Amino acid sequence: MENEVVSRNFIEQIIDNDIEDGHCKKVITRFPPEPNGYLHIGHAKSILLNYGLSQKYHGQFNLRFDDTNPTKEKEEFVESIKSDVEWLGAKWHEDVLFASSYFPQMYEAAVKLIKKGKAYVCDLTPEQIREYRGTLTQPGKESPYRNRSVEENLELFENMKNGVYEDGAKVLRAKIDMASPNINMRDPIIYRVAHITHHRTGDTWCIYPMYDFAHPIEDAIEGVSHSICTLEFEDHRPLYDWVVKELEYENPPKQIEFAKLYLNNVVTGKRYIKKLVEDGIVDGWDDPRLVSIAALRRRGFTPESIKMFVDLVGVTKSQGAVEYPMLEYCIREDLKQKASRMMAVLDPVKLIIDNYPEGQIEYMEVPNNQENPELGTRKVPFTKELYIEREDFMEEPPKKYFRLFPGNEVRLMNAYFVTCVDYKKDALGNITEIHCTYDPETKGGNFAGRKVKGTIHWVSVSEGVNVEARLYENIVDEEKGVYDEETGQINLNPNSLKVVKSCYVEPALAQANAQDKFQFVRNGYFCADIKDSIKGKPVFNRIVSLKSSFKLPV
Ligand code: ATP
Ligand code: MG
Repeated sequence: MENEVVSRNFIEQIIDNDIEDGHCKKVITRFPPEPNGYLHIGHAKSILLNYGLSQKYHGQFNLRFDDTNPTKEKEEFVESIKSDVEWLGAKWHEDVLFASSYFPQMYEAAVKLIKKGKAYVCDLTPEQIREYRGTLTQPGKESPYRNRSVEENLELFENMKNGVYEDGAKVLRAKIDMASPNINMRDPIIYRVAHITHHRTGDTWCIYPMYDFAHPIEDAIEGVSHSICTLEFEDHRPLYDWVVKELEYENPPKQIEFAKLYLNNVVTGKRYIKKLVEDGIVDGWDDPRLVSIAALRRRGFTPESIKMFVDLVGVTKSQGAVEYPMLEYCIREDLKQKASRMMAVLDPVKLIIDNYPEGQIEYMEVPNNQENPELGTRKVPFTKELYIEREDFMEEPPKKYFRLFPGNEVRLMNAYFVTCVDYKKDALGNITEIHCTYDPETKGGNFAGRKVKGTIHWVSVSEGVNVEARLYENIVDEEKGVYDEETGQINLNPNSLKVVKSCYVEPALAQANAQDKFQFVRNGYFCADIKDSIKGKPVFNRIVSLKSSFKLPV
């Protein structure tokens, strides 16, 4: 990791060179989401990368909605995206920007190309255009409309704008090269007719620019110096450069591609997350099993943990998959010192201390986090009847089982030593009660000179509070992989959500506010759910268990 600090990633090297040779006076980056869904962990990488660069070079970071395709865009997504970007800590320059507010400039840009003889109106049908485009091995064929005069093109394009034509009847195409080895350069469509109401511009326009034409113009208008995008746009770069060159922008932006963040066995794509939401398989875009930012937030991930994760992944040009446990590692690291360590029993069985006075309550003073004294202490009520985890008792223990079994002594965390003297079972053989005696000399649990190997946690039966806890597994069946090759459906894990109704927690936890995060000792990190918690009755989502399969590479 030390190398990370001193060495610069390949994007920083490009920027350094551009500053050195005088090409770049001010680093301006942007995050350009299309408001057609919620953001996910992959977008977080792009946001933090772009924002991080603007910070590092004392430049500017723009948040610009790329709303040039009104078909799937909605205002609802604009709001959620803003709140996610804000939550991640990326501060955008002044107000948010909208590509749609540049529609007039884009129209003018198209007119400019027509006047230069670099664009023409084409009447071929979409099928014909596809046919004429050629293939990777065969050059394309020129459209019969390619050599229309500038005057005719200007008139037809104006008619397009004025709503004279039906959707699909005509398009405006850049006049580049039908024989180019790069298919994107074979007279790409730059404007289409679409009689659709736009969520911001309403019915002002019935022609909309295509992404490859619109995006470089948006960047150029804003003075973006480095337009960072993902690898699939690499083949589009010649078109990006063509657009900014033909439109004669003074300080043309430079497109740089990096590898998408890809998590193994995790549903990341917006399209797929959307399908899970629409099919009702998950509880909305923020279902804690998803990796949309809203979901990670609801599950209990912190912005710091996401940033740590993105930094660990790094910025590269080669596609590689990252393991989800790395993300879990980051949230554990972040919460280790920040979260109070509380007692909660997920699978309770009663433990009765036969020689402890009936009705007595003792308040044990407990540090909130042994590794962070700043978090202070709290008082935890201790009584004759307690809940402990069912797995912390065995009738016939195997070797090396140090928890409770008949005749054995264990430490009740932060309280006394107890010895198991008896237990009861129901007709089915389930343990219903465990009887112990305690040693009043061992209060605090730190009695020196007596060998007690096991320490178990507990919650008072009368003083504890019953809450709901939710335990998660991957929504994907990892054995089968994310997608079924034949049906294209997601292979679902039927056990991805386990609702635990019988969770008992110490009383302090009943006061948790939504989004508060805790360690439940031995059971993991939990976060009070933002949707379903009510005052005095929180619902806890398990963010992550305490066991880790991930090791930091050295
Ligand atoms: P998806 O791939 O989920 O459909 P998208 O690329 O369609 O997302 P946009 O709103 O167009 O979503 O993307 C906004 C920005 O986020 C783009 O610059 C895009 O390159 C970047 N981005 C999208 N997915 C990832 C990813 N997995 N890793 C890094 N950056 C990403
Ligand atoms: Mg997209």
